[in-house]
Amino acid sequence: MQNFIYDNKTRIIFGKDTETQVGEEVKQYGKKVLLHYGGGSIKKYGLYDRVVASLKEADLSVVELGGVKPNPRLSLVNEGIDLCKEHDIDFIIAVGGGSVIDSAKAIGFGAKYEGDVWDFFTGKEQITNTIPLGVILTIPAAGSEASTGTVITKEEGLYKRSAGSLLIRPKFAIMNPEVTYTLPDYQTSCGACDMFAHVMERYFTNESDVDFTDQLCEATMRTIIKQSKSAIEHPNDYAARAEIMWAGTIAHNGLLGTGRIEDWASHVIEHEISAIYDIAHGAGLAIVFPAWMKYVYKKDVKRFAQFANRVFGVELDLNNLERTALEGIERIKLFFKQIGLPTSLKDAGIDSDRLEEMAKKATENGPFGNFVNLDEDDVLNILKLTVE
Ligand code: NAP
Ligand code: FE
Repeated sequence: MQNFIYDNKTRIIFGKDTETQVGEEVKQYGKKVLLHYGGGSIKKYGLYDRVVASLKEADLSVVELGGVKPNPRLSLVNEGIDLCKEHDIDFIIAVGGGSVIDSAKAIGFGAKYEGDVWDFFTGKEQITNTIPLGVILTIPAAGSEASTGTVITKEEGLYKRSAGSLLIRPKFAIMNPEVTYTLPDYQTSCGACDMFAHVMERYFTNESDVDFTDQLCEATMRTIIKQSKSAIEHPNDYAARAEIMWAGTIAHNGLLGTGRIEDWASHVIEHEISAIYDIAHGAGLAIVFPAWMKYVYKKDVKRFAQFANRVFGVELDLNNLERTALEGIERIKLFFKQIGLPTSLKDAGIDSDRLEEMAKKATENGPFGNFVNLDEDDVLNILKLTVE
């Protein structure tokens, strides 16, 4: 097991009606607040009114910036930075999913920097200061409500890149499972796949003696499988929505990666797909992950067999562990299909004529991935496995 520091200070405020506490939470950070949100679901379903009422009751002055698109864009981040500077904003409140939260994070550190915020996404600059932020989560998926990362798309050249720092972890995350009842099934499924992928990025490690965290990962993955199916069948099932919401945070708040070196290759490859084709990140992962697994499983057949057995209940074939491992990969594909996700580019209606370009862009800063280190040829081979 690797040495580690586990440092997660996001205060989780979980349960029914918790969004009405937002004003009181924000108050301790200052007076001027930027309220950041997406394309309108929060207005359509009434959450916006409850949030604004709570902020007003706490005597806060509110500046608004809506319009965040899924796969959030740099141009809106720049608009937010200008607003924060103009109004001397003390705190940002992100109401939405990963896209809104990531946009809010980038606005926060961009507003404390004189240069181009994209510098943080190319690695030219490290984050040293930010406007603090809090979250009201409306879709369990990205885990950004308690994570240290942000992913933004630069329209020019279609680059989707990430930046990260402990400094940008949200101060609090308000999580009311009831607000997720209105999610379209497809978004519930994309969210389930993203959080499942966040666990797998940590589970497939070369570390030994990490059985405790292996088991935490497995419990999280089994919960996601079970509860995502329940939530799609019964969208207003509080228990299912609550379990999946909490699992999504645990999947990506750092706990499941303690003591191990994480992989993250599938995310890097997926970002190339959603950058160009603007598909939901979770759908892209349903396409990439099974292909990555097929390409790398021979590195540790035992671990892949353990995954199949403990997560999907596949019987362990002690005389032929490879068979068990391969059955696990089939079962994960089946799970994605059962919840309505594409598992190939063809399923998603995407042509395979830009695979070389994606492999090149993904590796422009060199090989990546820690379970198996992948170069441009490897990435291209994995992308070829995603075609049908
Ligand atoms: P999202 O892109 O924030 O939202 C997806 C869609 O769901 C939007 O159209 C949104 O509509 C809708 N929606 C959200 N809540 C809803 C509700 N309660 N009822 C009805 N519709 C609702 O989804 P996401 O999967 O959370 O975020 C994806 C982004 O996060 C990607 O860019 C991905 O790369 C990134 N990501 C970040 C991290 C990280 O740690 N920072 C990790 C993984 C992924 P409205 O816009 O109208 O609200
Ligand atoms: Fe993700």
